[in-house]
Amino acid sequence: MSTRKERAARRAGEFPPPPEPLAVPVFDSHTHLDMTVSFVEDAGGAGSSVESLIDAAAKAGVDRLVQVGVDVASSKWSAELAARDERVLAAVALHPNDAPRVADLDEALRAIEALAAQPRVRGIGETGLDTFRTGEDGRAAQETSFRAHIAIAKRHGKALIIHDRDAHADVLRVLDSEGAPETVILHCFSGDADFAAECVRRGYLLSFAGVVTFGSAGQLREAAVRTPLEQILVETDAPYLTPMPYRGRPNASYLIPLTVRALAETKGVDLDELCAAISANGERVLGPWR
Ligand SMILES: [Zn+2]
Repeated sequence: MSTRKERAARRAGEFPPPPEPLAVPVFDSHTHLDMTVSFVEDAGGAGSSVESLIDAAAKAGVDRLVQVGVDVASSKWSAELAARDERVLAAVALHPNDAPRVADLDEALRAIEALAAQPRVRGIGETGLDTFRTGEDGRAAQETSFRAHIAIAKRHGKALIIHDRDAHADVLRVLDSEGAPETVILHCFSGDADFAAECVRRGYLLSFAGVVTFGSAGQLREAAVRTPLEQILVETDAPYLTPMPYRGRPNASYLIPLTVRALAETKGVDLDELCAAISANGERVLGPWR
């Protein structure tokens, strides 16, 4: 006999069934394949591999993705994967919640900058500000790291991929004081319609995750409505933020169809048209993949 708790624990390691594939392919603008594999392993799920996750995504019509590093080791790994798999581009950075804990921030930033020079590293991120998980004592180091990442993105002509948690105004303040790179992507966009309008006005791209499918995310759906097709992206942030109805199960790029269908419905646009726009945006600001 298994208790409800045991069954829930098993499901936490169990991928949801594949959704109906997309007719027009899109890409996942933000995923952590390495973290997804270890997340599922830790939750006691059946072995998944990086390769199987990329293959499953392609079958669902998600034929490209951006693998995002969060520290020097995972950034190196991301760059290596992108160099050997044409379906993958990489982003490299120190995560804003890790930056304050890095023993030697300057040395770590030098390692990120070295990776930024690689041709299939197209994004600098995720970087940014997080006042939810980082307390007062870590904020100065977090901002120093964010500023350094902005400079790296500009020096190498790469897209800046921003993690913004409860820090909308401060993110804009830092971008204004440094001068934003040509391409800025707000990963897992979490603002309301007004903040979306402000980001759109600045030419930033807004990347929407599975959160748009949550019942409680009315404000976020209003933000999606305010985002023009030329500035919208879609992502998983896997293994987290699994779209409905599979919240609580592990996420992966093959589930993007659930999120992109919800986005199309929210925006009242044709699904194929939205997918084509997202693909074109990715190829324009990050690509080409092949
Ligand atoms: Zn992430």
